[in-house]
Amino acid sequence: MCRHLAYLGPPRTLAELITAPPYGLHRQSWAPRRQRHGTVNADGFGIGWYPEPAPPGGPAPEPARYRRSIPLWADGNLPDLARAVRSTAVLAAVRSATAGTSQDEAAAAPFAAGPWLFSHNGAVSRWTDLPADTGWPLSPAALLSLEARCDSALLWAMTLTLLRSGTPAGDALAAVVHATAAVRPDARLNLLLTDGRSIAAVRHGDTLWWRAEPGPGNAVTVASEPDTEDGTGWQEVPDRSLLLATPAGTRVLPPADGPSAAA
Ligand code: GLN
Repeated sequence: MCRHLAYLGPPRTLAELITAPPYGLHRQSWAPRRQRHGTVNADGFGIGWYPEPAPPGGPAPEPARYRRSIPLWADGNLPDLARAVRSTAVLAAVRSATAGTSQDEAAAAPFAAGPWLFSHNGAVSRWTDLPADTGWPLSPAALLSLEARCDSALLWAMTLTLLRSGTPAGDALAAVVHATAAVRPDARLNLLLTDGRSIAAVRHGDTLWWRAEPGPGNAVTVASEPDTEDGTGWQEVPDRSLLLATPAGTRVLPPADGPSAAA
């Protein structure tokens, strides 16, 4: 279904990351090459970026977002924005809406809170019953603050509950996947999360790749699929794995089957 990407590294324009690569998110919005479910990603898109790099040891800056309910390729404002905005940390997604979810821009990833940006590629069947089924401790306040009527927004509320209680990002994603897959074995749960300093991602049911660019100012990109024709430099993340990345290094951990998977 959807396609998403996260980048950390030297400042790059949104155009360099999203619209210029020959097989990047722009092209993936109408012709993804490795998508396992759905055909086009025309139900909106979203881009989140950090206006300033995180200061060493300081609080992470709050990201900015630009989201639309139209296809990425049809947005006449995006080329100017993409040319002008430059960032050291970006999370972007193009959407193929799951049936029964809302279609407006509020349902387009990235979802955000504080320093966090989050995206979900996949689908959860009967998601409106999910917290009750999982026994997940979602407070009424968390449910009422869902950004949209969408399975992804619910997974984000679950993740955020853990992040706010101090759970590390990778552990939080692993726990959400574990609890959701336990009651919906058919769920597809590729999750992507960043705070502008590091990226946590899970592959669970669709494709996921990463690319490190060593050299002065290391860079790392995590994406649903490679953005170049031959995929040189890209590595595939095995299904049911957890990926933890910073520009300094990437770790891929075996099956995300519980909070301890990231330990
Ligand atoms: N289920 C999510 C949505 O409706 C994600 C869909 C997807 O991966 N295509 O937006």
